[in-house]
Amino acid sequence: MLADYHTHTYLCKHASGEPEEYLRQAERAGLAEIGVSDHCPWPDGYDTECRMAVEEYGLYRDITAKLQSLGSKVKVRIGLEVDWVPGQMEIVREKVESGNFDYIIGSVHYVDDFPFDNPAMLEEWAKPGKQEWVWANYASLLTEYIMNFDFEIIGHMDLPKKFGHFPCEMKKFMEKADYAFELAGAKNMSIELNTSGLRKPVKEIYPSLEILKLAKFRGLTITLGSDAHHPSEVAANFKDAVELATLAGYKEFALYSAREASLASLF
Ligand SMILES: [Zn+2]
Ligand SMILES: [Zn+2]
Repeated sequence: MLADYHTHTYLCKHASGEPEEYLRQAERAGLAEIGVSDHCPWPDGYDTECRMAVEEYGLYRDITAKLQSLGSKVKVRIGLEVDWVPGQMEIVREKVESGNFDYIIGSVHYVDDFPFDNPAMLEEWAKPGKQEWVWANYASLLTEYIMNFDFEIIGHMDLPKKFGHFPCEMKKFMEKADYAFELAGAKNMSIELNTSGLRKPVKEIYPSLEILKLAKFRGLTITLGSDAHHPSEVAANFKDAVELATLAGYKEFALYSAREASLASLF
């Protein structure tokens, strides 16, 4: 039985449906666990239109605690998807550390002030040199993140491919990714297989098989995540994710409780 560790709530303003409907869908999909991992609020108004307000953080805790109290046979885990915001991590570090979370997903959604996965930014992407610039900086940001903040799961590792933009120099990117994975492997981290890419123009899981093989080589474990923003998306395309994981040589995936990992069979 699998676990979906990447789901959102209506608090992030771009997800819909009642939290309980996500849990019911997890039951129907026969999952062992579902993890709620909404976007971390940022006190000084960083990217406010895509995340809960600071004042709603208590409500997030209430929503997730209520889900856990429903007595479902699907275990409910509580996580958070935390951005890497250079120079602004100290603002949230204490809240993340003291929040009794089961796991933290670390995600990079921005290069400088460019929200590269935002559909409204497609014109920006078309500017000369942009593609190269995003990919070069993305890998460096992820590496910095792994070095300077404790989190368990690397979120949607090759997200900049969302609209079909791939690294111009794949070899260079893979070298940087390898370094990031070497650091992550030493910290016993996981990389998620995020199936939401199959619902985007790129029509691929994050990460690619090539990247996943590299992660395996560096000793990273995996988690599965749908990045559901609607109840119907819970556990979406998990068959495809298991297939990809198998191709990369994985037989197990990681489960997290109080930020401690254990392993379960993919089959
Ligand atoms: Zn994300
Ligand atoms: Zn997400």
